[in-house]
Amino acid sequence: MKKTIYDYSLEELQEKIKPSFRAKQIYNWLYKKYATKYDEMKNIPKDLKLSLTENYPIDICKIISIEKSSDGTKKYLFQYADGKTAEAVLLLMKGKQKDEEGNIIKSEKYTFCVSSQVGCKVGCTFCLTAKGGFVRNLTAGEIVTQISYLKKDNNIAENKSVNIVYMGMGEPLDNFENLIKAIKIISDLDGLAISTRRQTISTSGISTKIEKLGKLDLGVQLAISLHAVDDGLRSELIPMNKAYNIRSIIDAVKNFPIDTRKKVMFEYLVIKDKNDDIKSADKLVKLLNGIDAKVNLIFFNPFEGTTYERPSKNTMMRFQEYLLAKGVICTIRESKGIDISAACGQLKEKEQNGNS
Ligand code: SF4
Repeated sequence: MKKTIYDYSLEELQEKIKPSFRAKQIYNWLYKKYATKYDEMKNIPKDLKLSLTENYPIDICKIISIEKSSDGTKKYLFQYADGKTAEAVLLLMKGKQKDEEGNIIKSEKYTFCVSSQVGCKVGCTFCLTAKGGFVRNLTAGEIVTQISYLKKDNNIAENKSVNIVYMGMGEPLDNFENLIKAIKIISDLDGLAISTRRQTISTSGISTKIEKLGKLDLGVQLAISLHAVDDGLRSELIPMNKAYNIRSIIDAVKNFPIDTRKKVMFEYLVIKDKNDDIKSADKLVKLLNGIDAKVNLIFFNPFEGTTYERPSKNTMMRFQEYLLAKGVICTIRESKGIDISAACGQLKEKEQNGNS
């Protein structure tokens, strides 16, 4: 696949484009002013624009649908040059402003959930993305543009910080090199300038890659989709657990360099009668012993075709209370965007079936 302008770090562009100060100007247009065409770059000479158009494609994706939830969550479907699609979700976190009809129009804090692959190899049984199998990795540029396009589409000022979570479609650590490159471009002060401390890699737990990532010491945060406390159930939910079991994940996390002000997030998707009992809560407490952890309990969101069920609110609260009583920080995630099926992979599924 031909490299696009979004696949280059600033240093790489400075080596390729002469005079090199032009590279910084281009970066500025891409990531501070969110230009999506070379024609928009007013201070770039015409002949350079022509050469850029030929050698560094800029028109790499388009937004083909946006679904908006009443809670302000927006789900974007991107289409890339080869026709493949991936999604990104914008979540409004705090300081919401509403219009006269009560619709949320602005938020002080944004989190973007970004995809790293088209499809996924991990095969989680609760996930629609998994059902379509793995198609391909996203390039670094295709990861980066999800963020710049979301910022542009929502008029988010360039100096406004957002949080990034790599937890859309795909397993980010299975696309390691492109992910690392994207993080470099996204965190560059001349690029999107989003600190690595505001970037969280959410993984299904490829322990060897967690170790590899830890050695790079980028300052990124880590979230682990744990979901179960014994290997039998976890392998049923996440088949890849057979290769990277719970013990190997916990060991890798214990060695991961985490900012002392932060914690490792453990995502626990609570499924009725599967992993929602106090025995599971107790095992979880023991498993996390020695880790500066925070547990995020997530209501399972049923979708068509699944046999899993959503737990009751009381069950969730009982689970949470048990963890809190044992000194484990634990939150219950608000189910954002439930009316637009914001669970992983669901928008793409609808689009492909022609239902949206
Ligand atoms: S939940 Fe995430 S890791 Fe699991 S199959 Fe879906 S996209 Fe892949």
